[in-house]
Amino acid sequence: MIYRNVEFQGIVVSRKNYRERDMLVEIYTDKYGFKTFLVRGARKRGFKLSAAILPFTFATYVGSINEDGLSFITTTKNLKQFQSINQDIFLNAYATYILELMKYAYQSDDLISLDWFEKTVSSISAINEGLDPQIITNILEVQALGRFGVQPNWQYCVVCQGVKGPFDYSESYGGLLCVRHFHLDSQRLHLDAKTVFYLRKFSVIDINRISTINVGDKTKENLAKALTTIYDGQVGIYIKAKSFIEKMNTQLY
Ligand SMILES: [Zn+2]
Repeated sequence: MIYRNVEFQGIVVSRKNYRERDMLVEIYTDKYGFKTFLVRGARKRGFKLSAAILPFTFATYVGSINEDGLSFITTTKNLKQFQSINQDIFLNAYATYILELMKYAYQSDDLISLDWFEKTVSSISAINEGLDPQIITNILEVQALGRFGVQPNWQYCVVCQGVKGPFDYSESYGGLLCVRHFHLDSQRLHLDAKTVFYLRKFSVIDINRISTINVGDKTKENLAKALTTIYDGQVGIYIKAKSFIEKMNTQLY
């Protein structure tokens, strides 16, 4: 099935050279998910759509969407470039990771969701505007778990429904355990109170409404560790940008 002359929003995920003068450009679109576009003449000097296919460009595109094969772009408008992300290798790594994570999410649950597209664009905009890239990414990671079939309960103890902490996260119970039920799982993550506080908060927060972030370095490190454990143990995906981020962080701290 081919949809001709349709308008959609998208963000450029990656691109690679194709044949002598062309490029294959992967775009995360609002209405069709992740699609690969054959852009003819993209490597020629003065190519008219060159700004629209730069990495992380967010724009409105008009083109043909092919459900199974390559898609095509005819025109674009309302281009937005994320300048800070383009200039900073660190921010770039987080934005790349977010897009790769969303791509995996579509592979495990092929529901096309405008909500998730908007969440992704909001996260990348927030990082571009200077909000802490790790925290923004962690919020998205917490909220995306459901798309990978992991839907932890962050609201109350999964055993007694108690809302009084302290809490810890248990992978085998799929959510929080309260202190009275810690003994049921010796493999629980042994998270400190601050880390649990933020994980619970992240599960319900609206990224668009965040104007400042102030999380200490130690808690950030614990949050990153907790989410890596949950993703490794319950989701099991490998994302190249993530190992790059981890390498950068070990050099920083
Ligand atoms: Zn309990």
